[in-house]
Amino acid sequence: MSVQERIELLRNELNQHNYNYYVLDDTTISDFEFDIKLKELEKLEQENPEYFDANSPTQRVGGTITKNFETIVHKNRMYSLDNSYSKEDLLDWEKRIQKIIGSTDLEYTCELKYDGASINLTYENGRFVKAVTRGDGFQGDEVTNNVKTIRSIPLLLKGDFITDFEIRGEIILPLDGFAKMNQERLANNEEAYRNPRNTASGSLKLQDSAEVAKRPLDCLLYQVVTSERKYKTHFESLENARKVGFKVPETITLAKSIDEVFEFVNYWDAKRHDLPYETDGVVIKVNNLQHQEELGYTSKAPRWAIAYKFKAEQVSTILNEITYQVGRTGAITPVANLEPVQLAGTTVKRASLHNADQIEKLDIRENDTVFVEKGGEIIPKIIGVDFTKRPEDSKPTIYATNCPECNTELVRTAGDAKHYCPNQFGCAPQITGRIQHFISRKAMDIEGLGGETVDLLRKEGLIENYADLYDLKVEQIIPLERMAEKSAQNMIKGIEKSKEIPFEKVLFALGIRFVGETVAKKLAKHFKSIDNLMTADFETLIAVDEIGDRIAQSIIDFSSDLGNMQLINRLKSFGVQLEVSQESLVNQTDKLQGQVFVVSGVFHQMSRNELKKAIEDNGGKVSSSISKKTNFIVAGDNMGPSKLAKAETLSIAIISEQDFIDKIS
Ligand code: AMP
Ligand code: ZN
Repeated sequence: MSVQERIELLRNELNQHNYNYYVLDDTTISDFEFDIKLKELEKLEQENPEYFDANSPTQRVGGTITKNFETIVHKNRMYSLDNSYSKEDLLDWEKRIQKIIGSTDLEYTCELKYDGASINLTYENGRFVKAVTRGDGFQGDEVTNNVKTIRSIPLLLKGDFITDFEIRGEIILPLDGFAKMNQERLANNEEAYRNPRNTASGSLKLQDSAEVAKRPLDCLLYQVVTSERKYKTHFESLENARKVGFKVPETITLAKSIDEVFEFVNYWDAKRHDLPYETDGVVIKVNNLQHQEELGYTSKAPRWAIAYKFKAEQVSTILNEITYQVGRTGAITPVANLEPVQLAGTTVKRASLHNADQIEKLDIRENDTVFVEKGGEIIPKIIGVDFTKRPEDSKPTIYATNCPECNTELVRTAGDAKHYCPNQFGCAPQITGRIQHFISRKAMDIEGLGGETVDLLRKEGLIENYADLYDLKVEQIIPLERMAEKSAQNMIKGIEKSKEIPFEKVLFALGIRFVGETVAKKLAKHFKSIDNLMTADFETLIAVDEIGDRIAQSIIDFSSDLGNMQLINRLKSFGVQLEVSQESLVNQTDKLQGQVFVVSGVFHQMSRNELKKAIEDNGGKVSSSISKKTNFIVAGDNMGPSKLAKAETLSIAIISEQDFIDKIS
């Protein structure tokens, strides 16, 4: 067998296993065997770059970085849907369309309304070429590299279909995958994501496609868009889409009359909580494609389709007590402690009350009977009070004036919805929370130490702040509950190892308010050391790209606190990285300042990622697609013909890998 044949064989096998697992939900190979085959394919592709294929299963692991998603005008507008909320609404709709078509004999396709982010996928000659978000319906963002990582989306179609078409669907996060992601986040002391829909649509705009690949996203298809008249009905086009590899849910149903539509609606209104993903309604579409064409569109939605929205489930229960939670940054969140009640398949005991304004606006009081609703959010909401049941001795809620943990008077700055406890260094949940944040995965990533152990160490009086971690000794830890020699050693090893964590992560770990991961990266790159950052004045700070007043002020507040400066000096003395390392500075220049690069094809002297890093290290910018703003295209082997054509029309300089290396050396 030739190398090319072997590559083809592996690709076909891997595609089939992917399809079996992610579309049919049927495992046909062990993870281990799958990995072995994938590794073999990766190796063959690396050694034989002439067989590179953007649609190879190896391209699903991600790794491309997109800084700016290109705006693309939709070939066919992506409309909204008109909504209906009752059977009467649906009957009215039926009457309207019967009149236009001039017939009472219409068929409908009933589908669930999947709750995620809509996406438009383009296929040419049976190959996936591009994915664009809905955006405003006229134009959206190109997110091809991110979408390619979703395993249930076929990159190559099998069998007979239309040659060139678009297909639309919804990118969703199934509930179990969402729950797993949140468990991991909580274990890492990160805030839980609020709901699957926002998390799914946020995932599409992540810059690093390798991060997207890690998320258990799925894509459910609901509309084939083409000018070819191969199919007579919508249902038929979906069934054929399923045959060539798309995940078209089995729940779609053909209804011969509006009564059968009602049956579908009733069935799923009762059963929707058994589904593996969220749905907020049903979409009903006229089945005959010719009828669809006759009906056409209003200015915002097709006349041939309508959404039916399920009522959000609501229950009433008694609010026993309002308590207050203190977060790591001192932010106070009021919590409603409820008489436990069943709602949408779960028992609800608590609901967030957001902030003082919300309580005042709804006039929520203890001992009130309140209405609780489960909308898109995972945490249920209180949407109002049943005033008819308010007890006679009821008194308006007086919002907490002091911290429930340390009794310090709370503050609220103008323009901020939340109250804060300002006692940073004396308030227990803030102290513990800061240390927990410090050790978390995206910060110092300390292995062998978890959030609960931090709590324990604090209670035992062994640590007061994150610098104290570096003074811990094995002998102090062994006697603690659930600790043994081995685990104690691992913990100390983990702490020791964190001294190698690069400055940008250390800066994030410090827990300066409003300095998240991305801001920390920017600041580290600009200021290069903690000393430069801590001595910078307000004007210097806001002069940095994307650093605004709020962040600048927070850094000034942090640096003007003596306690913080002592902590930093101690971290320094332990050898924690408080400046950008020499190694990473060596290769950094401003040679490519202000220049925008697009990288395309296969390279020999460095990997794509190395090439991109080299561009950024030398002050240049990497963009994922060619536009007027592009200065250079670094072209390797097999640069895509469409990119080449575009580069030529825009007269953008195309340079080779060697030209690039000469440029920076
Ligand atoms: P709306 O955002 O309320 O205007 O509803 C329109 C959106 O519903 C579309 O953009 C799709 O993203 C989404 N949707 C979910 N399921 C379906 C479906 N089965 N058919 C059509 N649209 C759907
Ligand atoms: Zn406090």
